[in-house]
Amino acid sequence: MADIIKLLPDHVANQIAAGEVVQRPASVVKELLENAIDAGSTSIKLIVKDGGKALIQVVDDGIGMSETDARLSFERHATSKISSAQDLFNLQTKGFRGEALASIAAIAHVDMQTRPESKEVGTHLKIEGSKIVSQDVVATPVGTSISVKNLFFNIPARRNFLKSNQVELRHIQDEFHRVALVHPGIEFHFYNNGSEIFNLPKTKHRQRIAHIFGSKMESRLVPVNEETEVVKISGFICKPEFAKKSRGEQFFFANNRFIKSPYLHHAVVAAFEGLIKQDMYPGYFLYLDVDPASIDINIHPTKTEVKFDDENTLYAILRSTIKHSLGQFNVAPVLDFDHDPNLDTPYAYREKGATLPKVTVDPTFNPFQDAAKAKSGGGGFQKRSSKGWEGLYEGLEKDVDVEEFSSVAIESDGDVQGTIYSEDHLEEHLATTFQLRRKYVVSTVKSGMLVIHQKRAHERILFEKFLGEITVKEGVSQQLLFPLELTFSKQELNILKEIKDSLSNIGFAFESLEEETVKVTGVPLVVPESGIGTVLDRLIADYKEGFTEGSLSQAEVLAKVLSKNLSVRTGEFLDQESQQALVNNLFACKEPTLSPFQKLTYTIISEGDIDKKFS
Ligand code: ADP
Ligand code: MG
Repeated sequence: MADIIKLLPDHVANQIAAGEVVQRPASVVKELLENAIDAGSTSIKLIVKDGGKALIQVVDDGIGMSETDARLSFERHATSKISSAQDLFNLQTKGFRGEALASIAAIAHVDMQTRPESKEVGTHLKIEGSKIVSQDVVATPVGTSISVKNLFFNIPARRNFLKSNQVELRHIQDEFHRVALVHPGIEFHFYNNGSEIFNLPKTKHRQRIAHIFGSKMESRLVPVNEETEVVKISGFICKPEFAKKSRGEQFFFANNRFIKSPYLHHAVVAAFEGLIKQDMYPGYFLYLDVDPASIDINIHPTKTEVKFDDENTLYAILRSTIKHSLGQFNVAPVLDFDHDPNLDTPYAYREKGATLPKVTVDPTFNPFQDAAKAKSGGGGFQKRSSKGWEGLYEGLEKDVDVEEFSSVAIESDGDVQGTIYSEDHLEEHLATTFQLRRKYVVSTVKSGMLVIHQKRAHERILFEKFLGEITVKEGVSQQLLFPLELTFSKQELNILKEIKDSLSNIGFAFESLEEETVKVTGVPLVVPESGIGTVLDRLIADYKEGFTEGSLSQAEVLAKVLSKNLSVRTGEFLDQESQQALVNNLFACKEPTLSPFQKLTYTIISEGDIDKKFS
């Protein structure tokens, strides 16, 4: 048998390596930014077009490369950063694998211009799919400019796998944040489709965080500082009251490298214990400095996962350091832990003076009744005024007289046959509702007992309402007497812009979305004025998550997010009117059985089930 094993040609090997290094445009951004930083740059420009699919360019003012280095830099395992295995344990640079440029050049069109200070002229190289297509001498400033076009041009499957430009841009922004947050001493400019979205001057950590996440962040930060033999911790945590329901502002850096560590995250959360609710995430920007020999950053090709020698100690130090900061800055005592601001904002169904439209309720409406019967029962309803205790007897005097009691059939042989009321009376008087444990609304239906999950049912109702409004633009807006000023970070603003049209369809009105401070001039009727900020914050956070996850339409994601955030909560009191509106509106829905999150909204406990309990 002939020998069949061959060495792969370089360009094939590079393409395979590229699969690991370059998952999406954001990976290219990360590699290029890191190279620029390793080159000692003081100012870095990032330019992207169409979510990085059309162009990613990084321009730096670093040390540049000689002609030979420029060519070599695209070879696999070509690096200036380490020369022996020993160096791996004393890494001072971001890069060390010498893989990035070779990988990128294997799957894109790359154009590089570079000049070191010692040379009068620079080198201009063009590479497509690992092949050098041209090399010229060029007049260019000191430093390096690399542009990457047509990413994955030769791997259509990967290209098709990319998400929308907006989603890819968001990933790029995430990488940009991670790099910019550790290097406040470097100036960054970020252009997207021709407009500057970040202009970060040289500054200190705290201001860098504020420049990226909005000036409101500045006042939320509590400094963290600790130096031990094992680790030096610095950075900031966000005050507990600004914890968010979704992840986003959690950053760990180990030796100036962004890392992910569920274990250390847990340490931070543990320090916040009792200060924030279970499903909330505290914000943090924590910089850990450890002996490079005690950390292995090599275990993951994209290098965000690391292994620390002594994780347990690190955990303990981190937790107590953060507890200390929380205590020292007196953050803890001013908090009311049990207080949920959502509970005191009058969401829908609460008595709210003149601003809420009155719900006309037909208490005899029974979704399980046939239409004709329901109609005939609806006419004579008058709202019973709750005058006081004597109101309790009103109904009894009138409706329940001795004669009717006498019509009770006494059971025989254990089989219940009679009823206390005649059938007609039953429907008229028991077609009412009550709330169980501020969680369920209970009513009767012909076949038994109807138990509605109040939150899920309301989510379903709101979901269908908003979905309708978003698509046909019929939401009613309540104009604010005094426009509300809210501040958002750049990223939040971008999301707001993305969903602005849908938001205005349902009744939101904004004055301008260009500056950090946004004026809200109108809101949908169901949104109370006091809750606007919270609602928008959650909307943005949830939308961001929802949209990256599924393949739902924007309208659907928004309607889901709105319904989740505006529905009545478990634990919220519902008056009689609201309970009945809930029942009626639920059964007017197209799909009353499930919440928008595919959870059961109601169940019926049949008479048979109840009978069984008594048997
Ligand atoms: P690594 O960063 O792991 O060394 P890369 O493939 O990213 O590998 O880069 C290869 C080499 O090219 C680097 O070691 C460096 O010498 C050089 N290089 C890359 N980008 C730049 C840049 N922006 N400025 C100067 N040199 C660069
Ligand atoms: Mg590199």
